[in-house]
Amino acid sequence: MSDEEKLDVIIVGGGLAGLAAAYVLAKAGKEVVLIERGTACGNKNMTGGRLYVYSLLSLLGPELLAEAPLERAIVKEQITMVSATGGMTLDYTDYSFKEGIPQSYSILRSVFDDWLAGKAEEAGAMIVTGIHVDKIMEKNGKIVGVDAAGEEMFADTVIAADGVNSFMAQQAGLRNDLTSREVGVGVKEMIELPEEVINSRFGLQAGEGATRLFVGVSNGISGGGFLYTNKSSLSLGLVVNSRGLGNQRKKLHTLMQEFKMHPAVYPLLDGGKTVEYAAHLVNELGFVGLPQQLYRDGLVVIGDAAGFVINMGNTIRGMDLAIWSGIAVAKAILEARTSAEVGPRYMENIERDLIPTMKVYQSYPKLLEIPRMFTEYPKLANDMMHYLFAVDGSVPPKLSKAMLGIVKNNVSLGSLLSDGWKGVTSL
Ligand SMILES: Cc1cc2nc3c(=O)[nH]c(=O)nc-3n(C[C@H](O)[C@H](O)[C@H](O)COP(=O)(O)OP(=O)(O)OC[C@H]3O[C@@H](n4cnc5c(N)ncnc54)[C@H](O)[C@@H]3O)c2cc1C
Repeated sequence: MSDEEKLDVIIVGGGLAGLAAAYVLAKAGKEVVLIERGTACGNKNMTGGRLYVYSLLSLLGPELLAEAPLERAIVKEQITMVSATGGMTLDYTDYSFKEGIPQSYSILRSVFDDWLAGKAEEAGAMIVTGIHVDKIMEKNGKIVGVDAAGEEMFADTVIAADGVNSFMAQQAGLRNDLTSREVGVGVKEMIELPEEVINSRFGLQAGEGATRLFVGVSNGISGGGFLYTNKSSLSLGLVVNSRGLGNQRKKLHTLMQEFKMHPAVYPLLDGGKTVEYAAHLVNELGFVGLPQQLYRDGLVVIGDAAGFVINMGNTIRGMDLAIWSGIAVAKAILEARTSAEVGPRYMENIERDLIPTMKVYQSYPKLLEIPRMFTEYPKLANDMMHYLFAVDGSVPPKLSKAMLGIVKNNVSLGSLLSDGWKGVTSL
């Protein structure tokens, strides 16, 4: 292709960010090509995962949303703090979460992304899969296109939606190489189980879903386990800080195996069949890790490539932000009179709609720097429960004395106070 035959927009990456942008732009009549290295959109993705639907609703509207392949509407939010012999589970059930348009769903990315790619194609976008973009092309300081498998393609605007390890943002000089402080590493299995078994194990009615976070399963490394109920499978995984993982001997797959075999976890999976296993990097820093600049003349960075993730401790929110940033860039392109105006308009949209929420959660990752969160505190909670429920015929100590002893056995007063202070100031 010569630069006289240029397109309106080239999008690199067929995850949620790229697909959302492609859908909006194609619907508005722009000539859009999206290039995805996987053999189908979603193939390379391994998200857990739970999608908060507000941004998807804004993208598709209620009618198309009703057609989307969403798995279960989440009504149960559970946290299990594990000990060596069991676990203490907090279970918050809220049926208002599924009223009207439910606030969040579990999804399977390989299914969902492929469906969304189909909708973008129906709207007029060209989706090219199985092609890796190798290089961005620059002319007189402006990004003018990409080189994909030896073929040069040109466009007024190139959108980098190539995920957490964005080579495009790095090549454009907008991001540095990722460091072990910035990213966690996640591993996930999809485990098939009959729908009615999932319903009875988690106390769910048809169509309802549960999420469960596990604290104390990461061998002392900052991170934790997650479980999402899909229609007839579970997404089970671990996310741990990559520096912490490097500093100890166990490999991630060993940690995952120990997690699966834990007495508080195994009964949930029993009889299931693992049909998928994958590992992926996760942005961990949220607002603090955002690059200073997210565009250059001719290029805009969105989704994980831009660092749009909210890390709320054990929960990662990236999918809703990816969709939102895809919509924001598409709106900027549609509003701009010249390609040079796209970046600043995109930033206006992002600063109005995304950054304020990211800022609210900006200090949460500091909580993850408290090492006792992943060892002593889950054990302490379980020891307290053990005291309350264990009866062996001997005379038990009084409650106040027992609790003080349990606290002292697990953590010093100094650590408790300093962690408490860190916790309060992080939130
Ligand atoms: C273990 C784990 C659990 C998570 N759980 C959740 C969750 O429950 N909820 C949530 O909201 N978020 C979750 N996230 C985060 C979420 O997955 C991301 O924030 C989201 O997928 C970002 O979407 P994206 O479109 O920006 O990037 P991606 O979905 O990563 O898409 C990027 C795409 O670009 C393609 N690509 C990359 N390089 C090239 C290239 N050179 N040429 C062509 N194509 C290329 C990739 O193949 C990929 O398809 C989780 C992440 C992990 C790792």
